Amino acid sequence: MLLSDKYPFLTNYFTQALTSDSRPLPQSILFYGNDLESQYILATEVARLLNCKNDKSDNCECLNCKWIREHSHPAVMTISRIDNKPEDDDSKTVISIKQAALIKETLMSASEFHRVFIFCDRDEEGNISGLNQTNFQAETANSLLKIIEEPQPGVTFIFLTRYIDDLLPTIISRSQCFFVPSKEGVNYNYDIIKGVFENYWDFERKDIFDLSQKLTDLTKEHTVTEVLQSIQNYILTVLKSNPKRSEFIDHIRLTEESLEQARLGMKPINIFDNLCLKIIT
Ligand SMILES: [Zn+2]
Repeated sequence: MLLSDKYPFLTNYFTQALTSDSRPLPQSILFYGNDLESQYILATEVARLLNCKNDKSDNCECLNCKWIREHSHPAVMTISRIDNKPEDDDSKTVISIKQAALIKETLMSASEFHRVFIFCDRDEEGNISGLNQTNFQAETANSLLKIIEEPQPGVTFIFLTRYIDDLLPTIISRSQCFFVPSKEGVNYNYDIIKGVFENYWDFERKDIFDLSQKLTDLTKEHTVTEVLQSIQNYILTVLKSNPKRSEFIDHIRLTEESLEQARLGMKPINIFDNLCLKIIT
């Protein structure tokens, strides 16, 4: 599946940001959510859009696109505890101060490319996982703050993490944060909530508890996770045809919070009350 089909809203956002002067691409981007592999693909795609010398299409065969797909582009670097370490660096479990110093040194010289640094965790088998305060410690993160906040044309930092709170507030506050939904949920099937939740933006505040009760009633035949997943799929479907309406991105993030509450065993009625109170305004 092409990335633009899978994440229509994010792809659209970045494509717009890359082509308009009014909304410049943020220098520091943070992706969060459960699906780290998709985050990594998305980060690579951003790097590709920034470096493509052709039409930026999904199938572009220009040298930059080709290199980035092969993970051999000289200016697109994955920074993890096992990637891009200086030779004298024997740290094995963290992104080190020496790696941060190497990045700063790299930025001293000019480049014909748009440099993209993708910060994440990766194991020896190549599985991507998220940054946290164990693998990306405060000392290293803080040593990067200056270069993250100083506007430098042609440089983008991307941080990948599962939970936004796993990163230091100093990084979060300097970054534009995007929730990336997990790919398992994106089958766009929302049969379960048909007739109950459709066109939810037409509901008024007085309808909230009635709607919440109807959603709770659905949990007699389905699990609360299934109902929430169905709600999320519905919002993703709506977003697909309304990619400029950013409130839907926010609503997807809120359903993700509800899924977490379901995992923690919160009562369905409370989960749906919370959700409906936040998305119906
Ligand atoms: Zn290209």
